[in-house]
Amino acid sequence: MNDSVKNIAVLGATGSIGRQTLDIIASHPERYRAVVLTAGSKVDKLIEAALVHRPRRVVIGQTALLPELEAALSPLGIECAAGDEALAECVDADDVDIVVTATVGYSGLMPTVRAIKGGKDIALANKETLVVAGEMINRMLSQSDSKIYPVDSEHSAIAQCLAGEDMSRVRRLLITASGGPFRTWSAERMAVATAADALKHPNWSMGRKITIDSATMMNKAFEIIEAHYLFGVEPSRIEAVVHPQSIVHSMVEFVDGAVKAQMGLPDMHLPIAYALGCHARLDGASGHMSLTDYSNLTFEAPDTDRFPCLALAKTALERRGNTACVINAANEVAVAEFLDGTIRFGQIYDVIERTLASVPFVAVPEFDDYVASNAEARAKAAEVIKSLN
Ligand code: NDP
Ligand code: MG
Repeated sequence: MNDSVKNIAVLGATGSIGRQTLDIIASHPERYRAVVLTAGSKVDKLIEAALVHRPRRVVIGQTALLPELEAALSPLGIECAAGDEALAECVDADDVDIVVTATVGYSGLMPTVRAIKGGKDIALANKETLVVAGEMINRMLSQSDSKIYPVDSEHSAIAQCLAGEDMSRVRRLLITASGGPFRTWSAERMAVATAADALKHPNWSMGRKITIDSATMMNKAFEIIEAHYLFGVEPSRIEAVVHPQSIVHSMVEFVDGAVKAQMGLPDMHLPIAYALGCHARLDGASGHMSLTDYSNLTFEAPDTDRFPCLALAKTALERRGNTACVINAANEVAVAEFLDGTIRFGQIYDVIERTLASVPFVAVPEFDDYVASNAEARAKAAEVIKSLN
């Protein structure tokens, strides 16, 4: 095989980002080859993807599904494995050049840790990894050859604005937010919004969890935390600005007053391709944008009264330690229960706030502390939800 072909492990290959990553790999066989594909439980979709991409190895989270995976793929010489250890271990094989972390939630942490230990380049979609353990991840990166290239469109935009610039000349990072489906809704109407309402994102088609995080604006809080750890800019110089058209993907303001923005269609193929290329541009990654179709680009200040989750970025980055890990765990539980119809939209924030108040603070967490805080916060959040009902 041509040495310039990069071998990719796609974690979360059956999801929204995973499938778009596979589109790019399939369109550029001269550059990329999928060697590892993983999924949580959608075994049929994983088999389908493996039949197209013919990776060396596939891994499914749920161990009970391994026989089905093996029956379909072992005869083709594709190695099959299952379970959490296999999901983490598959990233550090010698033939993996780039790991795309496109699983959802806390599940992204362990494979990312393994990828850093293995010195792999990482195209990071799983922002929760940096939310949960940003300080530890940065410590690990400083002792590894591994590099993180952001997939999140806002962070890709910031990386594009920063190319060729001196970080000491940066005044502010301006992270754009669509405002989600409830941007213009009253607090009373939002409090009782249904899952179907919250899943109607105006501009982006994404997985269910991040779509709910966009509706609460917890996603933007996570992105502020993510930006802090990716770019080393202090929290007071990172701001969210609501931009309902999702054409400006984020901006950087410099000390001379210049503001650079990266614009493009709301299409994740572009930031995924920019990350896979380790910040090189790929022909035709996304479609052509005609500026005259977007003559009304607008910007508004966010409203933390109606979107209290957004303010949790400040709480997390002021208190530090395991705070963001606890917020993330409580949010994951609350979002799942909201999607199941157990709690109302307005209760997502209450669950997070009450969980945060009851899980002990750990000032300098190591890996095991994150694991423990995550488990404890999940248990507490479940208790809080029981008490609400
Ligand atoms: P999806 O829900 O569409 O896909 C998630 C993927 O992760 C699926 O392949 C799923 O497998 C797998 N998965 C879920 N749980 C586990 C688990 N416990 N262990 C292993 N694998 C698991 O999510 P998205 O693609 O929307 O999001 C992925 C990540 O990218 C998130 O962190 C999100 O915040 C981030 N992101 C997403 C964007 C988007 O446009 N979608 C934009 C920016 C960031 P299965 O299908 O079997 O359940
Ligand atoms: Mg984003």
